[in-house]
Amino acid sequence: ASRVADTWVKTTCGYCSVGCGMLVGVRDGKAVTVRGNPDHSVNHGKLCPKGQSEHHILTAPGRATQPLLRKKGKLVPVPWDEALDTMVERIGSIQQKYGNNSLGVVGTGQLVTEEVYTLGKLVQLGFRTRNNDGNTTLCMASAVSGYKLSFGSDGPPGSYEDMEAADVVLLIGSNIADNHPILCQRVERSSERTLIVVDPRVTKTAMMADIHLPVKPRSDIALINGIAHILIREGLIDSSYIEQHTTGFEEFAAYVSTFTPQHVAQVTGLNEETILKVALLYGRAKAAFIGWTMGVNHSTQGAVTVTAINNLALITGNIGRAGAAPFSITGQCNAMGTRETGFTSSLPGYRKFEDAAHREDLARIWNIDIERIPTARGLAYPDIIEGAVSGKIKALWFIATNPVVSFPNYSVLEQALRSVEFLVVQDGFHPTPTSDFADLVLPAAIWGEKEGTYTNSERRVGKVNRAVAPPGDARTDFDIFLDLAARIGVREELFPNWKTTHDAFLEWQRVSAGRMCDYSKFTWQQIEDENGAQWGGKRLYEDGIFPTSDGKARLHCVPCDPFVEQPNSEYNFILNTGRTVEHWHTRTKTSQVAMLESMVPNAWLEMNPEDAKRLNLKSHDRVTVTSRRSNVKNLELRITGIVAPGQVFMPFHFSESNSNLVTLGAFDPISREPNFKQCAVRVERS
Ligand code: SF4
Repeated sequence: ASRVADTWVKTTCGYCSVGCGMLVGVRDGKAVTVRGNPDHSVNHGKLCPKGQSEHHILTAPGRATQPLLRKKGKLVPVPWDEALDTMVERIGSIQQKYGNNSLGVVGTGQLVTEEVYTLGKLVQLGFRTRNNDGNTTLCMASAVSGYKLSFGSDGPPGSYEDMEAADVVLLIGSNIADNHPILCQRVERSSERTLIVVDPRVTKTAMMADIHLPVKPRSDIALINGIAHILIREGLIDSSYIEQHTTGFEEFAAYVSTFTPQHVAQVTGLNEETILKVALLYGRAKAAFIGWTMGVNHSTQGAVTVTAINNLALITGNIGRAGAAPFSITGQCNAMGTRETGFTSSLPGYRKFEDAAHREDLARIWNIDIERIPTARGLAYPDIIEGAVSGKIKALWFIATNPVVSFPNYSVLEQALRSVEFLVVQDGFHPTPTSDFADLVLPAAIWGEKEGTYTNSERRVGKVNRAVAPPGDARTDFDIFLDLAARIGVREELFPNWKTTHDAFLEWQRVSAGRMCDYSKFTWQQIEDENGAQWGGKRLYEDGIFPTSDGKARLHCVPCDPFVEQPNSEYNFILNTGRTVEHWHTRTKTSQVAMLESMVPNAWLEMNPEDAKRLNLKSHDRVTVTSRRSNVKNLELRITGIVAPGQVFMPFHFSESNSNLVTLGAFDPISREPNFKQCAVRVERS
């Protein structure tokens, strides 16, 4: 590869939150190859298949290259001036008629942090709508809410190296072998460690485990409470840590005492000996690490499940030291950047809407009237969609996200898209299943075509660099935001003298200074030279002081409620959804990479051999999955013991076989994250 490139541009991978360092090889202004950065502490030169083929997305045939405006029912090319003037005029007249909050905006973890920060200011202070959220609510909101409830703030407390330093690693609902492949290698490397994986399905990660706990769907809370009960009963807790650094222990201990091994065995389907063995392993570990992803977050009880995990870490003092952390492994490359820069569930720098001092702080830095800053968050993503259906939201602006494939219960989403008076889709690709609905398509630059930073799961801020120019007339999201700011007359007030994303970074440094996510401690150059910098250092809470009113973490009593849609005689399977290593989310990018697409071109359905026999189905039969909402037809059947009897699994990447036709529109009341993981379906031959 080094023979074909004439320059190498150092950057960070734009897919997942592992945050691998890479080099893009460029020849004659085109990205011709990539390779892992051998000096990067996250990946030491390695890349997964998506990373290794990432340069192909830059020249994919499906890139959006010119603004398109719907005229007489058809999307037709228009100049940028007409596109943005129309957007400002249409949104302006809708806001004048229905109020400022009739505009809903859904951003993304795909932008660089500097763009997310700029977008937040533009939307909340420029367009003056509070209804601004990110697609991260579909994946990480429960982790954010759970951290806030337990510790007083968001922020994953540990580092990747803690996975290696731990003597017990407990992964809950986390298939890192498919979804965070390079991170997965951290738990492969040592025979000194016990890997325990909690997952209803025998995932690739479960196959690597020393102990796999195939719990019944959504019974993880019972298991976690049951482990806490055994730890307390056996004296395997850190009483001095509990006394000094937590509140609520007595009530918590009384609550979990009802989660006896017998009861937990009944709820989870595990046997009592295994539950005891795992609890003792966790309790006797010198350092224990708990990692989780969507199996925990994608639930109506996602936020409280996170607090249950945090409880385990707190009562054993497994936080703030090497190898010990309750660690949310995030999804998108810059999900963390959207969490820190805020304007969604919090104000920038993890400030709180309801805290007057926090609002004063920001008003002073921005030199604006404090009344301009909202005192409460606006609608979360699912409520923006619901608002569009009910008529509260009249204009929608989606940025680098594809809800037609990623949002649960498609029929409601479609109703929302058809109900609004004006729909803008800003994306690096067109057509996408969502841009097909748009009144206006704004073509945007993607990874490899712009400069800024991403923050990965371990709070490592990585430099992202431009290797090539965007195709056609596509512009960076940052340029689009500043141009819109000028057209609505707020550019000089909100973005004085800003020309590049570095100007946004300099202001973000001032906004984040002194906060937990303090970016003022490093420059772009340092991040680049040192292959990333972790805000908060390697670990948060090393001193046991938490950002709560009394400095102590909170222990929570978490009930194990049955999941919303239980199977019955008509819908007798529980459907679980997930991902595969070759594809990224809604496949907008990876379907255009021949190497990845040819390996996995279609969706499938996994079913246990017992069920297949009962239904007289054979491998490769075509089947239809039907829920109370709709159905997905013509799926290839895979008969396999990796799913338990009574459960089926399908990947969610495929618009042609959209799992969200059948998923449930049920959301966590705290985080607003969807319950993607369990809905009741039946399966028939197509
Ligand atoms: Fe990119 Fe994630 Fe693969 Fe690393 S593991 S190369 S960050 S997709």
